[in-house]
Amino acid sequence: MNSVINDKIRQVERIHLANLPTPIFPLKTVSKELSRNIWIKRDDFTGVEMSGNKVRKLEFSIAQAMQQGADVLLTAGGIQSNHARATAAAAARLGLKSHLVLEISKAPKAEGNYLLDQMLGAKITLLDENAGISFSEKLAELAESYRLEGHVPYIIPVGASNGIGNFGYLNAFDEILAQEEELGIRFDAIVCAAGSGGTYSGLYLGNKLTKSGRKIVGITVCDNKDYFTKVCTGIVNETLSLLGEEKDPAPEFTFIDGYKGLGYAISKADELKFISDIAAKEGIILDPVYTGKAFYGLYNEVLKGTFEDCHNILFIHTGGQYGLFPKQGQLEEVL
Ligand SMILES: *Cc1c(COP(=O)(O)O)cnc(C)c1O
Repeated sequence: MNSVINDKIRQVERIHLANLPTPIFPLKTVSKELSRNIWIKRDDFTGVEMSGNKVRKLEFSIAQAMQQGADVLLTAGGIQSNHARATAAAAARLGLKSHLVLEISKAPKAEGNYLLDQMLGAKITLLDENAGISFSEKLAELAESYRLEGHVPYIIPVGASNGIGNFGYLNAFDEILAQEEELGIRFDAIVCAAGSGGTYSGLYLGNKLTKSGRKIVGITVCDNKDYFTKVCTGIVNETLSLLGEEKDPAPEFTFIDGYKGLGYAISKADELKFISDIAAKEGIILDPVYTGKAFYGLYNEVLKGTFEDCHNILFIHTGGQYGLFPKQGQLEEVL
């Protein structure tokens, strides 16, 4: 591995938390069904407690926090946030405190990620979705109270999707290029779910900096194309300025809308049925909030001809399986 990215990343502070590289393998049944080579990269294998995509970003965010002498990591997300759980796990492993702000619409049950957050010793503030206060306001308020107590807090934004966290998927792109060489394959398209935009931004920037010419596709599981174009332009440019590179005023992103279904983290029967079918066909468990919707999107878009010019397609499994357990009742209905 001696690419442009690798040289740049070596200059950025990083701690190693994830099991890397994560494996890539073909999906035999789905490939046959779609008459296309569909491969999967198992970023759900990055670890057990820190499983999924967020740990790649946290390797850089937490390195920066520690460099600043932080002893408390503050972050936020939905009640079943994978990112919040990965942050709590990383903090516990590193001997730091964690404080999570989790948004709720009703009194939460101790299940899935929220149960794990408590086991991992995180301090938790529940924020009602109608409270009229944003994550960033609440995090700033908590940080201030920690400062007054003599702590050094560090705020990680939702999903660790900012300029520094973005190095996680910039690095993953480099990893994919090296794996392509080993496998003797070239992926025409790389597809992921877009939730807070960091995974997509990192892959996009990797493709751009190495002039690899791949199609990088984000399937939106909340908000829409316009929102992600704005957010990811910000993230990409933050990383470019950390690298001392020129800004990219109008990046050419490819986002696909139409698969968020009833809304963020809300499942429909057809989505859960699809997840269950893939499990039986391929022995792979997708999650209901991100990868289930995104892979459902990819599957349908290939059938519609959107990927006509792409022979080899890589889907990134970004994790999230703990989020299935709170959907147990709904899942039982589709089995
Ligand atoms: C957060 C998350 C995503 C979305 O990644 P972003 O970088 O936030 O866009 C996808 N899959 C899982 C399982 C996640 O937890």
